[in-house]
Amino acid sequence: MDRNISWYMEKQVEKALDGLSKNNMKGIFVQDENELLEVIKELVAENSVVGVGDSATLLETGVLDLLRNGNYNFLDKYKEGITREEKREIYIHNFSADTFLCSTNALTEDGMLYNIDGNGSRVAPMIYGPEQVIIVAGINKLVQTKEDAERRVRNYVAPIDAKRLNKDTPCTKIGHCVDCKSPNRICNVFVTISRQLVQDRIKVIIVGKPFGY
Ligand code: SF4
Repeated sequence: MDRNISWYMEKQVEKALDGLSKNNMKGIFVQDENELLEVIKELVAENSVVGVGDSATLLETGVLDLLRNGNYNFLDKYKEGITREEKREIYIHNFSADTFLCSTNALTEDGMLYNIDGNGSRVAPMIYGPEQVIIVAGINKLVQTKEDAERRVRNYVAPIDAKRLNKDTPCTKIGHCVDCKSPNRICNVFVTISRQLVQDRIKVIIVGKPFGY
């Protein structure tokens, strides 16, 4: 990366880490997915119950493989052949997990997390339940303001996610959001996590490379 761009990114990361700390969340920076996996091994106790939210980032960084192959009681919502009922059981079980991992759609430089969700199964355990929540955010998730976060999620994240899910919505045809009323609409829950009551319950690991979308 160009060193001037690299300098700019460093400043963005510094601001986000400082913002998270002011909001009672622990920010951690790692250079890449290898460092990320080492930090996760330190944070997640062996034999503990671990759940995850839907996340391309966890897949791309190898976190899902770590949880599947490690010594954890992993609530694997992706396991082959899982039924709708089993998935719902996992979603409910996630609330009592020791650790819940997911990514975020955007992280502002003053340390707020902004997310959009279809049925709420990802954002609900972020808000309440698990003892510890670990959020993995590629450098591409950093934005300046809450307005930037909303724009990013509405006009970039949601249409791509609708495409991934093969939804019959306007955005999967024209490539941007028209705030549809489609029965297949995936944008139903908009959540800003501004601060935590329990200090460091949420840990945000910023990875110095782009992951997810
Ligand atoms: S509101 Fe509708 S059109 Fe907009 S991103 Fe969501 S699903 Fe697509």
